[in-house]
Amino acid sequence: MSAQICISVRETTTQKAVASALRAADWADLVEIRADYLQDLDLDLLFSQKARPMLFTLRSRQDGGVYNGSEPQRLETILQAARCGADYVDVEFSASWQTVLRSVPRERVILSHHDFDKTPADLVSLADTMAASGAAILKIAVRARSLADNLRIAELLAKARGRGHKLCALAMGREGLPSRILGPLWGSWMTFAGLPGRIATADGQLPADVLIRQYRVRELSRDTKLYGVVGRPLEHSLSPRIHNAAFAARGKDAVLFPLEAAGFDDFLQFHASVPLQGAAVTIPYKEAARALVHRMSAAARQTGAVNTLVWKDRLWNGENTDVEGFLRPLRRRMLPAKIKAVVLGTGGAARAVIHALRSHGADVCVVGRSPAKARSLAGEFQVEHAVWDRIEHLRWDLLVNATPVGMYPDIDRSPMPSEALTGDWVYDLIYNPARTRLLREAAERGCKTIAGSEMFLGQAWQQQSLWCESPPPEGIMEAVMEFEPEDRSAP
Ligand code: NAP
Repeated sequence: MSAQICISVRETTTQKAVASALRAADWADLVEIRADYLQDLDLDLLFSQKARPMLFTLRSRQDGGVYNGSEPQRLETILQAARCGADYVDVEFSASWQTVLRSVPRERVILSHHDFDKTPADLVSLADTMAASGAAILKIAVRARSLADNLRIAELLAKARGRGHKLCALAMGREGLPSRILGPLWGSWMTFAGLPGRIATADGQLPADVLIRQYRVRELSRDTKLYGVVGRPLEHSLSPRIHNAAFAARGKDAVLFPLEAAGFDDFLQFHASVPLQGAAVTIPYKEAARALVHRMSAAARQTGAVNTLVWKDRLWNGENTDVEGFLRPLRRRMLPAKIKAVVLGTGGAARAVIHALRSHGADVCVVGRSPAKARSLAGEFQVEHAVWDRIEHLRWDLLVNATPVGMYPDIDRSPMPSEALTGDWVYDLIYNPARTRLLREAAERGCKTIAGSEMFLGQAWQQQSLWCESPPPEGIMEAVMEFEPEDRSAP
């Protein structure tokens, strides 16, 4: 059965809620009205034009809502909603749910529990206690702090299925995204989504169009090949957009989703229960990945960083597609031999850049905010190093930014003072936003610029080729990169 999607509507007036509910019907199987946000609640109007079954939620402050009235008033309004046309009503397990269950048929009551702080250890016994109430549908929403917390949701759903409970379970927060995407596959009665084009109503909630089109939740099955992008933070990452578009264009039953891991071990633990076919590795795990893979390509070994994982013969194979991804746009413009290059940053991307430039005979100077790291990296690659305070005095033909300074959401920052942009070329590895402050200021000062999106496309193209053992269709990934400038967050 295809995944059921509930869109949560949060409006300030009943009229707007009706309009949004009608719009939500294009995407959703169920529409939740967050009535605690309505300033003029009119129950007759609210249920006058239903295009989908409606869930009425009047959340108290104690449970993360904004309802201000008294508890008896709140419960009475929930009962009235059930009489006026709500198909389902939500009542919290912390409230006097007995009042609601006495008056509303049990199959129309969703008994809910929210924990906005953590994923409690005893989820299964919590669900058992809630089920003993007699409610036919349970909802448990907790806050994930690690990828491993998603596994607890999966385990909870498996147990609930075994006991015949109808349960919607999910983990909030960016760490919990896998539970929102894979939840229905694990047996969740519903997955919650936001109205397309609107701000999410809960932490980590994805808009319904993204959930359906990009992550294909309605089509996922046990046969779907799973891939991830592992990093922290991942807000900026366009890997899901670009790779899911490529999988779709190939007609491959595969999905790539964000894995915001608390550590690289957290990712490995997740993979042990939710087997992945491959992963893109990003900030800050490229070096940790290198230490944990079973086999490595020459590029990964030489750079000391892994940005791509391929699961083959029950082993992780580590690759580095950043080297070729970085070089291709550069070679189109110059022969990087005998140039003087300054590289800002000492992380995984800097390693790929230094290796790529050195192998072409460039003179490289690495600059890090940690002098010890810069010194150690310079020693490893036999290049020069300088301290961060001196960057204004360095001379270069090519400046490469391999730090996240200026990346979404901190787009007003630049790693280099504008007046120090005195060389020929500036290459910013950041691809979100497409034109960083560094690149804008460099162009204003007469430097030629290279945007990180070119490298991103090059390295992602190679990742697709490794995962699918053939190159992706021409032009698909380029088209995805040409998205609207205001659409900078990357769900
Ligand atoms: P990483 O391994 O975490 O390294 C980040 C580096 O930046 C570290 O040296 C870090 O210093 C430094 N840094 C962080 N914040 C800083 C600040 N406020 N001031 C000065 N230095 C700072 O990350 P990465 O994988 O190398 O990625 C670095 C950047 O390159 C990211 O923006 C990433 O998106 C981009 N990138 C783009 C592509 C592409 O395809 N276009 C590919 C790879 C990477 P410490 O070690 O002291 O923390």
